[in-house]
Amino acid sequence: MNNIQMVDLKSQYLKIKKEIDKEVLDTINSTKYINGPKVHEFASNLAKYLKCKYVIPCANGTDALQIALMSCDLSPGDEVICPSFTYVATAEVVALLGLVPVMVDVDEKTFNIKAENIKPFINSKTKAIVPVHLFGQSADMEDILSLAQEHDLYVIEDNAQAVGAEYTFTNGETKKTGTIGHIGTTSFFPSKNLGCYGDGGAIFTNDEELASKIKMIANHGQEKRYYHKVTGCNSRLDSLQAAILNVKLKYLDEYNQNRLKMANKYDEAFRDLEQITIPNRSKKSTHVFHQYTLKSESINRDDILKYLSNRGIPAMIYYPVPLYKQEAFSKYVDPNFKIANIENLCNNVFSLPIHSEIENSKQDVVIEAVQSFIKSV
Ligand SMILES: *Cc1c(COP(=O)(O)O)cnc(C)c1O
Repeated sequence: MNNIQMVDLKSQYLKIKKEIDKEVLDTINSTKYINGPKVHEFASNLAKYLKCKYVIPCANGTDALQIALMSCDLSPGDEVICPSFTYVATAEVVALLGLVPVMVDVDEKTFNIKAENIKPFINSKTKAIVPVHLFGQSADMEDILSLAQEHDLYVIEDNAQAVGAEYTFTNGETKKTGTIGHIGTTSFFPSKNLGCYGDGGAIFTNDEELASKIKMIANHGQEKRYYHKVTGCNSRLDSLQAAILNVKLKYLDEYNQNRLKMANKYDEAFRDLEQITIPNRSKKSTHVFHQYTLKSESINRDDILKYLSNRGIPAMIYYPVPLYKQEAFSKYVDPNFKIANIENLCNNVFSLPIHSEIENSKQDVVIEAVQSFIKSV
């Protein structure tokens, strides 16, 4: 077998083993397992990296979204607009808080939500927009921000897949994704571009008032111990995970560069195959390729996945079902509701292995298999 993986966490660990092992052992020896100095050190380093005033670590990316929404003082029944083509967490937290997820169309090329998808759904109940920077590239934030400003809406960026990506405004100003709207959230799930060795997440903001609310909510709604101002939750990043992330943050740009190299090589190999569409690259955003996602309407997706799998090559479908078709969200949508573009994406996309540990020979195996499948049909 080729031993090709979607993500190669073992090789990545072995390269930084010495540093990681030392940090982990030091943290264990310190016994400061909860909210220890490592957590603060990591939050401050990440804030510096993102050029963002406040980074509040928490337990995972889903909690990060939930806490971000909780800090916006929304009322039951308020509507939150999000894409229909994303991971479930984006809409799940909205529903969990008694808010209404309004799941809308995305751009067929970038897979990202854009202002014109959002605009028709804004009404007096709309309070927030949650753009997702899907697969590693920023949504077109400039238009989304001006729409939000016009209607006084919160913008919460789900940046779980795009840590390190940079968005360029028309005036040339650049910002890291997750620091563009009112609040940004991310996940440190192991396979994310900046992943720890368990669960982790963080919330970003430049707004001091929101930052103190977010901190309070993530810590049982208390500012002072045993005095609880609001109903909060308990969501913390473990000191051990923070120690690991502190090491890995130094390599994030290198990891993203490696992903980009891999994507460039795939692009070169597949660009001229008319049966498949290579990932779009936005002129306004860098791409950190959390996923390398191809689209094809003319080949049979089950057939190519089987063909790859028979050659020991993993490939995944992100995402096979539109959010509005999920049983969990059925009460928010008419059973016949359908967005042709979203269904088209769910039926025709598939993602190839991409990660920070490039091995040319292994990528060649993937490339040759895709090419030979296309030739055979
Ligand atoms: C991974 C992910 C999340 C959730 O992160 P967890 O840490 O697994 O809770 C949320 N949104 C998107 C787009 C994701 O990819």
